[in-house]
Amino acid sequence: MTTIDLPTYADVEAAAGRLAGYAHKTPVNTSRTLNEMTGAQVFIKCENFQRMGAFKFRGAFNALAKFTPEQRKAGVVTFSSGNHAQGIALSAKLLDVPATIVMPHDAPAAKVAATKGYGAEVIVYNRYEEDREAIGRRLAAERGLTLIPPYDHPDVLTGQGTAAKELFEEAGPLDALFVPLGGGGLLSGTALSTRALAPGCELYGVEPEAGNDGQQSFRSGAIVHIDTPVTIADGAQTQHLGNYTFGIIKRDVDDILTASDRELVDAMRFFAERMKMIVEPTGCLGLAAALKHKDALKGKRVGVIVSGGNVDLQRFCQLVSA
Ligand SMILES: *Cc1c(COP(=O)(O)O)cnc(C)c1O
Repeated sequence: MTTIDLPTYADVEAAAGRLAGYAHKTPVNTSRTLNEMTGAQVFIKCENFQRMGAFKFRGAFNALAKFTPEQRKAGVVTFSSGNHAQGIALSAKLLDVPATIVMPHDAPAAKVAATKGYGAEVIVYNRYEEDREAIGRRLAAERGLTLIPPYDHPDVLTGQGTAAKELFEEAGPLDALFVPLGGGGLLSGTALSTRALAPGCELYGVEPEAGNDGQQSFRSGAIVHIDTPVTIADGAQTQHLGNYTFGIIKRDVDDILTASDRELVDAMRFFAERMKMIVEPTGCLGLAAALKHKDALKGKRVGVIVSGGNVDLQRFCQLVSA
């Protein structure tokens, strides 16, 4: 096995410097009701209020800001139908880099429109017949574009780590921190910040119950691949962790937990009713796990990262009224 050089907290600090003036420093919100429900003091880092509605802007912008002049001129390509696509498209617009986004033919029209609205070129593929990563790589080779994947990239994951850096700087040291987990960009970046700023803090990644490949990987010590899981948490429908993300997660994370779709909907309702926030299902993973394990959190200072708020309003209403 070849070993890879893992990025460090110094890279997260450098990313924070690149993001200054471009990314929002998102609020850390609290709720008396939540503190009473858990017996803990809970700090919610609200990346649903980040630019384009999710933390993905941080990693995408950091990666593009590091391009050489030649890379900037040629452009960026990525494959994603979700928040990473919009993060890349918005960052590319801000940095004047041409962007090409490979999206499935059945991606929601609103997402395609938003991506095109940022000025990106959208290339559509058939998700049942073609391999999006192969298309991305082919476009990169043919057109000289730089491929920025959604999570397994040092500049992406260190950009994501800036959210937890801000959380610790604002809330102080925490006893436990709960973080949504898909491919692990957010969790691995968060781990670098946590081990640097609050070394004693217990750090938990939280996956959808239907797709616990990260939990299986963490517990077995090797990356486990699964079929695309069926869950409402569309931002965490990943099939496997990455080499960079898993390298950091297995070293720095305490455990991987899961939440069911029903628990995610309960958390969505809580955020809407009590905290007046629209949070997408994937963004609720952290709170859902904290509530499930609340007996272990009494008297503690607990952080929860809310990763995003991009959910179709009609879909939101369907989910919370079911
Ligand atoms: C992408 C995404 C995640 C998962 O992030 P990874 O870096 O892939 O682990 C969680 N929540 C939201 C809202 C996302 O867009």
